Amino acid sequence: MHELAIANSVLEAARTEAEKRPGMRLAKIVVRIGDLAGVDADSLSFCYEALVKETDLERCALEIERIPQSNECPRCRHNFTVANFEIACPACGSVETRFAGGDELELAYLEMEDA
Ligand SMILES: [Zn+2]
Repeated sequence: MHELAIANSVLEAARTEAEKRPGMRLAKIVVRIGDLAGVDADSLSFCYEALVKETDLERCALEIERIPQSNECPRCRHNFTVANFEIACPACGSVETRFAGGDELELAYLEMEDA
């Protein structure tokens, strides 16, 4: 259960941040997951729900932003989304593009509200 470990570390990171702001409580946790990160979003949501159930974070929502793979073209500096493994640059046609994103797994931001 890879996703359970991820949900756990997301929660820990969120709690650490929340502790820096006394009097506030966590309302929403937003994570960013690249399509290539190998994380199942549904499974992550499920694990998160299980972890916060009957805790102080039960009403704190988890939102998942999916990030598609993107490549950058060194020739013309164009940055584009890769679909169907098509890595050729749509601007200049160069096939020598390089990986620029899509394997993210990070805490994007937290929404806090008055406790
Ligand atoms: Zn190009």
